[in-house]
Amino acid sequence: MGALPGIVVTGVAGRMGRMLVKAVLESDRARLVGAVERQGHDWVGQDLGEVLGGGSMGVSVTDDPLDPFAKAQAVLDFTSPAATVEFSRIAAQARAVHVIGTTGLSADDLRAIGAAARHAVIVRAGNMSLGVNLLVRLTRMAAMVLDEDFDIEVIEAHHRAKVDAPSGTALMLGQAAAEGRRVSMDEVADRGRDGITGARKRGDIGFSAVRGGDIVGEHDVLFAGQGERIVLRHVASDRSLFAKGALKAALWGQDRKPGEYDMMDVLGLD
Ligand code: NAD
Repeated sequence: MGALPGIVVTGVAGRMGRMLVKAVLESDRARLVGAVERQGHDWVGQDLGEVLGGGSMGVSVTDDPLDPFAKAQAVLDFTSPAATVEFSRIAAQARAVHVIGTTGLSADDLRAIGAAARHAVIVRAGNMSLGVNLLVRLTRMAAMVLDEDFDIEVIEAHHRAKVDAPSGTALMLGQAAAEGRRVSMDEVADRGRDGITGARKRGDIGFSAVRGGDIVGEHDVLFAGQGERIVLRHVASDRSLFAKGALKAALWGQDRKPGEYDMMDVLGLD
């Protein structure tokens, strides 16, 4: 049997970064070979085990991705859009599988990531949990069956530190609903209502975001008709769920052909 795939975690000090480290350390199918944080972070140069409050781990936190990526078979990346675009280029050079959980990526960012995916495997998903990916499928089915007499609203809630809205997951759900109705999401998305907005436009897909406390992530897709409504709901209560999904994607991506994949591919839901 060959060596276990070597994994690098970027943004190790972040909420997801810490979970990803834990998931890799607990797995008997992968080993941690590197830890990356942003320039100037006080973990840089220190042993990861020690900054996490345990004994030495023999993996030092670095702000230079080149060396760790060159040693890795996969990079787990939940950071920021600018960092993720840069990491996709370096991971592609190293032919490492790049698992991207970062949300809030612009169209330009996605183009740059698409270019990197010509040379290496990229798995990108706004949500890495099995439940949410199943919810995406159910949303598409419901939108296919229910016509525009049912107004579709995506309502999400997250912790107070989240920087982007609507969440990547809410956008995935909106996209699935638009696909079910065979319309372009750009044309029907109604984001950020405030003031005298006028009546709701038939066929629109509305988004609203709640931010507060330590909410891990909640998503409702509401189909509101006359006299009845259907609510599809997912509630995440533990971030380790996303980390386990990301590690699963990294292992799944080994020895695949270069290209951009998502969790539907990993979970076999397509
Ligand atoms: P966070 O702010 O707690 O962590 C981000 C970490 O990335 C920080 O430690 C930051 O210092 C680090 N970072 C930023 N720029 C960097 C760089 N250039 N190099 C190295 N490290 C860098 O945020 P979080 O809650 O962990 O979320 C991170 C991202 O993951 C967000 O975009 C969030 O929406 C997304 N997310 C996705 C999923 C999913 O399942 N896809 C789940 C949860 C969060």
